Amino acid sequence: MTFSRSKNSVQHQTGYIIKSSWLIPMLDAPLSDKFPESPMWLEEQSVVIRNEEIIDVLASQLAQNKYPELEVIDLEGMAVMPGFINAHTHAAMNLLKGYSDDLSLHVWLETAIWPCEAKFVDDDFVQLGTQLAIAEMLRSGTTCFQDMYFMPDQIAKAVQKCGIRANIGLMVVDSETVWARNADECISKGLAVFDQFKHDEKLSFSFAPHAPYTVSKATLERLNTISFELSMNIHIHLHETIEETSQYLKLNGIRPVEELKEIGLLNPQLNAVHMTELNDQEITWLAESGCHVIHCPQSNMKLASGICPTQKLVDAGVNIAIGSDGSASNNDLDMLAELQSAALLAKVHTGNAEAFPAYQALYSATMGGAKALGLDSNLGSIEIGKQADLIAIDLNQIETTPVYNPVSQIAYAASREQIKHVWVAGKQLLNDRELTSIDSRSLIKKANQWKTKIEGSNK
Ligand SMILES: [Zn+2]
Repeated sequence: MTFSRSKNSVQHQTGYIIKSSWLIPMLDAPLSDKFPESPMWLEEQSVVIRNEEIIDVLASQLAQNKYPELEVIDLEGMAVMPGFINAHTHAAMNLLKGYSDDLSLHVWLETAIWPCEAKFVDDDFVQLGTQLAIAEMLRSGTTCFQDMYFMPDQIAKAVQKCGIRANIGLMVVDSETVWARNADECISKGLAVFDQFKHDEKLSFSFAPHAPYTVSKATLERLNTISFELSMNIHIHLHETIEETSQYLKLNGIRPVEELKEIGLLNPQLNAVHMTELNDQEITWLAESGCHVIHCPQSNMKLASGICPTQKLVDAGVNIAIGSDGSASNNDLDMLAELQSAALLAKVHTGNAEAFPAYQALYSATMGGAKALGLDSNLGSIEIGKQADLIAIDLNQIETTPVYNPVSQIAYAASREQIKHVWVAGKQLLNDRELTSIDSRSLIKKANQWKTKIEGSNK
C-alpha cells in the first residue's frame, strides 16, 4: 500500500521506505581503471529506514511486499545518495562572506579577516554564523561537516539545535584570540567542551591546531600525545601555499610535513587540509602513514593558494576528502560545486582529462570524508546498519535531462537547487527545499543585523 505524502509533511513514524529512480550507494572506492567493483548506481531501488538506521536496501518492487506497514516516499525522477561530508569549514565565518575578496591568503588574513574577528567574534557571532552555515549546508546536501573555529561550545549548541551531524575541531593557536589567551588555555577549554558534549551521538571532536605557522612545535607535540590518548583526530591547515612552506623552511630548516613526521603526527588520525605544495617524497610519506588529505579546491583557487595534486595522491593510495573551507574564502558552502571543481581542477592541473573522474569526486565528497573523520563504519555510504544520512537530487529537470549516467549528471550538470530532500539520522531536515529545523526568515533577519553592526564600525 502506498501513501501519498502531502508537500509539507515530515515523517514522524519510526520507519519508512524511500523509493528512488537511481540509487548511488558509494560502496567502493574507484579502482585503477577509474570504476568501482560494484555498480556505480542501481535503478528502481528502495532504502528502508527504521529510527536512525538503514535496515534494508532492495528492489522497489519487493520493498512494499516485504514492509507493507511502512510509509513509501516515492521519489520518481530523483537520485538518492549518501549526504555530503564537508570535511573542512569554518562555519561561523558565514557571517563574513563577501566581507573581503580578491586578496592572497596572508594579505586577506592579516588586513581583513583577523582584525575583524578580533573586534567582533563573540558567542552570539559564532552561534548565529554557525546556524546560517548549517542552513546553507543542509540546503546543498551536506549532512555532516568538520569545523574549525573559536567558541566550540557555541558550535556544538548550534549543531544540536539544527539537527545536523558535525565533527568539531577544538581550535588551538599560540597567540591570544577571542577564545583563549594561549595554546594551553585553548587545550584546557577545548577539553572541557569535549567533556560537556561527548555523549551526543551526532557530535564528534578533533583537535584543530590552526597551522604550523601559528602553532609551535612544542604545542603540536603535546597535541599529538593528547589526541593519541583520547583517540581524537588532528585537523590542521598544512602546506596551503608555497609561501608557507618556504618561510617555514627558512625559519626552521625543515618543511612542515617533515616536521609533523618527526613529531609522529603523520598517522591515520591526521586530516591535512589543503596540501597544495607537495614533493614526491612527501606524497610517499602521506601514503605510508595513512593520513587523509582534505582538498578545498574553490578556496585554493580564490586565494590563488595553489593546486592540490589529487590524482597523484589517489594513485599513491592517499584518501582524499573534500571541504569548502570557510564562506569568507569561497564564498559558499556548496559541496556539489566543490566536487565539480575538484574534478575539473585535476584535469587542468595534470593535462589529463581522465584525472579525478566524476565517481572519484562523489566518493571523496561522501566516503572519503567519512574515512577522514574516522566515521566510515557509520557514514558515507548506503549500507544496512549505517546511519540514514541521505539526500535526494531531482534529476527530472531540464538541466539534467536525459540521464545516461546519474553520477555524471550530479558531478557535472546538477546544481544545489535540485537537492530536494535531506535526512540526518533518519530525520528529514530538508523537505522539498524547506528547512524543517531552522527558521530561515529569523536567521536572515539576525544575519543582516550583524552585517549592519560590522559595516557600521568600518565607516
Ligand atoms: Zn580553513
